[in-house]
Amino acid sequence: MILVVNPGSSSIKFKLFNEAFEVLVEGLAERIGIDGALTLITNEKKHKFNTEFPDHLAAAETIIEKLRELNIVKNQNEIKSIGLRVVHGGDKIFEPVIIDSRIKKIIEINSKLAPLHNPPALVTIEAFEKTLSHAKLVACFDTAFHQSIKPEKFLYPVPYEWYEKNSVRRYGMHGISYAYIVKKFREVKQLKNNDFNLIIAHLGNGASITSIKNGKSFNTSMGLTPLDGLMMGTRSGEIDPSIIEYISKDSNMDVIEVTSILNKDSGLKGISGISSDMRDITSVMNENTRAKLAVDMYCQRVADFVIKYLNQLEGKIDGLIFTAGIGENSFIIREEIIKKLPMLNIELDSKSNIEQYDECLKISTNKSQYEVFKIRTNEELMICKDVIKLTK
Ligand code: AMP
Repeated sequence: MILVVNPGSSSIKFKLFNEAFEVLVEGLAERIGIDGALTLITNEKKHKFNTEFPDHLAAAETIIEKLRELNIVKNQNEIKSIGLRVVHGGDKIFEPVIIDSRIKKIIEINSKLAPLHNPPALVTIEAFEKTLSHAKLVACFDTAFHQSIKPEKFLYPVPYEWYEKNSVRRYGMHGISYAYIVKKFREVKQLKNNDFNLIIAHLGNGASITSIKNGKSFNTSMGLTPLDGLMMGTRSGEIDPSIIEYISKDSNMDVIEVTSILNKDSGLKGISGISSDMRDITSVMNENTRAKLAVDMYCQRVADFVIKYLNQLEGKIDGLIFTAGIGENSFIIREEIIKKLPMLNIELDSKSNIEQYDECLKISTNKSQYEVFKIRTNEELMICKDVIKLTK
């Protein structure tokens, strides 16, 4: 069995897979350091436990204990390996890796670039090292997939010393999701090699867009931090950097407060004044002008990136792919984005755009100049497959 873990600062999300890639149980340990709650879902049955999680170690121990109590694992040695999602591997990590002291050091060093994500990943790794000491631990980094991006695309036009001394550059995120989508596209199209280009819009609560050249990341919209690029649920995406100093002086706030507003109260939430959740916004966009404005801005920014990336790929793509919560589910947003791309001569198939689907569906007609797909991402499955590959 393989345990796939997504660590947060006060939570541990997980899925337990068997060797046939079937999910045996999924769960969430939350409110770590506050009080504690554990939810396990198996065979569509929900089990809830209120408990005490003073730290991540206590949460890890309780997860394993409850898996045994529910007879999902008979013996904890059945869990042979653990795959952990880690956000930031800096520029030293190119692929999934077995965790050792060097890798832990790299995660620690990169904590300054991902202060909300890397420290909890490290404590979760240490918790599972103690709880399941026999298991092999693998780290899958969100930044790793983007290491193929070249300097002219990953550097910002700032003093070069900021890159050399302070590691300022574009790193990109959602790499595990992009790796999964590329793999799925190859499978669906039955491609034998990496001779294909794509533009993939990962539109979730956090959102980014990536161009793929010959199967590898060629450019991506997230930057040094996840604040760059597209407009998101609560994040602004790219803005004039001088806004920070201007608002700071004009509203008497420090840089930390302004940056926090750009992360937590901007994007869809900031413009609509309603919600950061796209469902809440699209459901009222016909009667609420601010909701409509938020949708228009959101879609325009995605469309503008598509044009930019298509140009960088010399107009040669084998597919435009929508994925993640909004990309997979919102036919309105897909339609609005395509409407803002008149130069591409894409004709959406309105039936398949709204149709239910399992993993992947083409949503453009055969008359369309470019093929468009909606594909469901599955980061946990990607991690599970990487773990199996690495530990076999
Ligand atoms: P994620 O971060 O990938 O879970 O995506 C969360 C976003 O997906 C939220 O903005 C949700 O409103 C959006 N979302 C999920 N399901 C739908 C849906 N059926 N229609 C529109 N948006 C959706």
